[in-house]
Amino acid sequence: MSSKQRVTILGSTGSIGTNTLDVIRAHPERFEVVALTAAKQVERLAEQCIEFKPRLAVVGDASSAKKLSELLLAKQISTTVLYGSEALISAVLESDCDTVMAAIVGAAGLLPTLAAAKAGKRVLLANKEALVMSGKLFMDAMHEGGGALLPIDSEHNAIFQCLPVHFSKSPSLHHGVEELWLTASGGPFRNTPLTELGQVTPEQACAHPNWVMGKKISVDSATMMNKGLEVIEAYWLFGLPIEKIQVLIHPQSVVHSMVRYCDGSVIAQMGQPDMRTPIAYGLAWPDRIVAGVEPLSLTQLTALNFTEPDLLRFPCLSLAFQAGKQGGLAPAVLNAANEIAVAAFLDNALGYSQISEVVERVLNGIEPTVTSSLEDILEADAKARTMAVDVIQRLRS
Ligand code: NAD
Ligand code: MG
Repeated sequence: MSSKQRVTILGSTGSIGTNTLDVIRAHPERFEVVALTAAKQVERLAEQCIEFKPRLAVVGDASSAKKLSELLLAKQISTTVLYGSEALISAVLESDCDTVMAAIVGAAGLLPTLAAAKAGKRVLLANKEALVMSGKLFMDAMHEGGGALLPIDSEHNAIFQCLPVHFSKSPSLHHGVEELWLTASGGPFRNTPLTELGQVTPEQACAHPNWVMGKKISVDSATMMNKGLEVIEAYWLFGLPIEKIQVLIHPQSVVHSMVRYCDGSVIAQMGQPDMRTPIAYGLAWPDRIVAGVEPLSLTQLTALNFTEPDLLRFPCLSLAFQAGKQGGLAPAVLNAANEIAVAAFLDNALGYSQISEVVERVLNGIEPTVTSSLEDILEADAKARTMAVDVIQRLRS
């Protein structure tokens, strides 16, 4: 058996997936890719398979699998091609991986990420929606599996780096941590007059000032639902009450987040807005490896600004705080309604300002409950999606 770290990438054709392969490409002596997955981008996945020669590749449906098999056969690549949601779990459990990069966007990533947690893999968590939906269930699965959980979201990766090394072994002791400060760029509409927000287009919403990302997270960054999901993510990852998690608008995206301690210290992690830094840290932890990222030059910075977010401008952030405080299935409902609303917005079927309206109506329309087994979570997710579709239809008629 090879002594290299064997990596499965769930969502390898996306923004996080391709950045992960970029870091791996620079360290062939250290990492081996054993499985890659994508929904539909067959050509890109074929190129990745030709370069990295994984044992397994998974796509969304039979016709994509047929096309991928043909492309690989033409290049004499012997990767096994599978398709469908069950096959995503095979990519985790049957690929002989020891590390799983969870980089599928949205709820579709929940089951394979949960399988990785239960199986004791090192889980590199980019797919925040999976943790937001399943919260305690996911953290318990990680605990039982015994693998390491490395946050890839830049803010959580920053906080992980700013916490004492022994923090994750006994988070309930708090180790002098008073508050977590999550930074947010404020997105492309930080200064847009409120009266103009109703007319913004998907293209404008996806043009993030500092980060290049997938479409869904770009829209979430514009509405700040992304930061709301990250507050819930931080709650589960670090075990601090929601009240101790603060959001700060920091337009330069240089300070990726901070920890405030009881002795007056504030520890920040800084760097370029480049996801290869947290990805490299997650892959190599506790070591550090070259990530291909430009060094940060402090003398070229003109300022580092921090302000509190305006909740009138960012109602999705308030809704996420509401769901986080409600607990139970509320975060799963919030997430599902948001996924449907964002997809409708990207499809030009819903206005930008209506995204929060849909989420609010669904969140307030579903009875909160405290039980959250996997069945409960999947049921709440499905119910919230149906209700969100109904709300959108009513808004359109
Ligand atoms: P993306 O849209 O660029 O890529 C998503 C990947 O998931 C693609 O490979 C796609 O084929 C796959 N996928 C999509 N739907 C699927 C489905 N139903 N079944 C199976 N696979 C599916 O997204 P991204 O920007 O790379 O984000 C991925 C995750 O990482 C998200 O949860 C996002 O919130 C998180 N994240 C991203 C960034 C970033 O900089 N892009 C930063 C922090 C966190
Ligand atoms: Mg983030």
